[in-house]
Amino acid sequence: MPLKVYRGETPDPRQATRDAVAVVRRGLLPIVEIFYSLQGEGVRTGQATVFVRVAGCSLACSFCDTDFRVRREMTVDEIVDEVIGYGCPWVCLTGGEPTLFDLQPLCDRLHAHSFFLQIETNGQHPRPSWRLDHITVSPKESEGGHLHPWYQDHAMEFKVVIDTPADLERARAYPAAGHPGGPLLYLQPNALNPDAVSLCIEAVKADPTRLRLSLQTHKLLQIR
Ligand code: SF4
Repeated sequence: MPLKVYRGETPDPRQATRDAVAVVRRGLLPIVEIFYSLQGEGVRTGQATVFVRVAGCSLACSFCDTDFRVRREMTVDEIVDEVIGYGCPWVCLTGGEPTLFDLQPLCDRLHAHSFFLQIETNGQHPRPSWRLDHITVSPKESEGGHLHPWYQDHAMEFKVVIDTPADLERARAYPAAGHPGGPLLYLQPNALNPDAVSLCIEAVKADPTRLRLSLQTHKLLQIR
């Protein structure tokens, strides 16, 4: 399949990923930023969280607004020390795409310090050996991504960006809370498309047991 032309507003993820791979080859982790804020999306909305943003991504979504270039080259110890400094029990591993690189040593060290770990992933690369307390999957199938079947059974929430009715149909195919013990299914309207908001609201009203609306509340509040 030919490579998709990247139309997003951030630097090309392929170059960012090549740079991140080079950092890993030097025995370090490629980090964009570590910061303390509130989780703005999905079921953990409003919960204080330390975010560790890992550089690089496996996709090149047209609506991407994340800068995932390498800003810091860090050891596991350096990351853990910085996270401890915030004094918050929840850590979110995000990206880019944090499953591109082996974060198991980082997960193990953070758990040894009793942190709870959330991961936000596009769901292409399962990491079953990592111990994670909350798995958020945001599949990007309209952008050429594919959901690995492992996540069908292990995701705790699906968060699906909705731009068109076709996205809505794809979202309805994911397992959701309407099934006993199933994950939560959140519709997140593409912030660049006002029609997507009403599309999501009507869909949630029509399917109240399976669907929920997710807004990027951190953007509404103008926090990170
Ligand atoms: S998967 Fe996420 S971080 Fe990667 S290009 Fe798509 S929107 Fe951006």
